[in-house]
Amino acid sequence: MPKKEIARIMSGFQEFREKYYTTNDSLYRKFATGWQGPKSLIIGCCDSRVDPAIIASAGPGDLFVVRNVANLVPPYERDSGHHGVSAAIEYAVLNLKVEHVIVLGHRQCGGIRALVFPEETAPNGFVQQWVKMAEPAKLRALNAQGSGDRDQLCRRCELESIKISIENLRTFPFVADAVKAGRLSLLGLYFDIEKGELLELNEPSGEFSIMKPDSSRTNADWDERYSQSGFFFGTEPNDFLVENAGLFKKNMRVLCLADGEGRNSVFIAKQGCQVTAVDFSSVAIEKMKAFAKKNGVQVEGICADLNDFDLGTKKWDAVVSIWCHLPSVIRKKLHQRVVQSLKPSGIYLLESYTPNQIGKATGGPKDPDMLLDEAKVKEELAPLKTVKLIETEREVHEGARHNGLSSVIQLVAQKLI
Ligand SMILES: [Zn+2]
Repeated sequence: MPKKEIARIMSGFQEFREKYYTTNDSLYRKFATGWQGPKSLIIGCCDSRVDPAIIASAGPGDLFVVRNVANLVPPYERDSGHHGVSAAIEYAVLNLKVEHVIVLGHRQCGGIRALVFPEETAPNGFVQQWVKMAEPAKLRALNAQGSGDRDQLCRRCELESIKISIENLRTFPFVADAVKAGRLSLLGLYFDIEKGELLELNEPSGEFSIMKPDSSRTNADWDERYSQSGFFFGTEPNDFLVENAGLFKKNMRVLCLADGEGRNSVFIAKQGCQVTAVDFSSVAIEKMKAFAKKNGVQVEGICADLNDFDLGTKKWDAVVSIWCHLPSVIRKKLHQRVVQSLKPSGIYLLESYTPNQIGKATGGPKDPDMLLDEAKVKEELAPLKTVKLIETEREVHEGARHNGLSSVIQLVAQKLI
């Protein structure tokens, strides 16, 4: 007769069989052939409260998971040691070819507490030996937090240790190669048990903020971004736009898509064009109007969602799209409307991040669906004649979020009829 706890596990297995095995047997038939195809490796803590599959509402086969005390990633070491975590990383990246490696830390982590207060665990025991690898996180936390508030010191150390693990991940040559090639992104997450929130590590600032997928950012989120003092993407116009300033002649009618606080619209208006700028955020539109006034030009600002904004027909001499990253389902429809809205000989100028940008901490969304490459541009804008189409790496310095060597695609295309 099994004990109560074992009986509970057995009845849980019956439930699992009913939920997944009998109603979704084709999935398990596939698994039985040896196949698995998870997109993400999650490195989580052993802690019973933070099961990655439960937190992510993941199903069988969705996640490749390695759990250890304090969700730590050791640095790359080639010796004869028993490197369980490193083996899992290697298998996930090289064999399963996962697209994301996620370090999932959490609030109230006993492992991190053992690092901060070693006197609470067995002297020279396995726990102490293991968590010692995150010692730099403890030092950073002590520097930032001081030792006064023990609880807050632990919290800070929990966050800092995620950064150390991300840094250690980059020491694995095959991880660094995959990141460089744009095949792999690294992500630090923190589950705050107390608040029920998932925080995301933002690089390069090193700050954590409540995670929201880019595709679900609302205009309230953008309003919040633009409500901060200063200009989110700076006040200087985009480099590619400046390089092509000669395209913008006096009195041309130009539509600027998702131009935020108006740095590009104002630049184009300064070339003598009649500029209309459309953005999701009413806060951005107000800032843009003030910025135009300060620069002695006029820009018509429209607060609208590009998903259903009417661009008109044969209305614009040029349409400009700079870092306007949208889910493909919205972008494809928008591109059809861009083509329709251009006058004959009208110009479409675009710069976007490419999927190779994933893994770089220099800006842009992490979802490849929102990024453009040559094939997508050609397909979505087939009716236009390509004048210039360049996929390249360049230094982008446009506000704090766009900062450093970036993988971009640049397009100038023209409507023929
Ligand atoms: Zn933990």
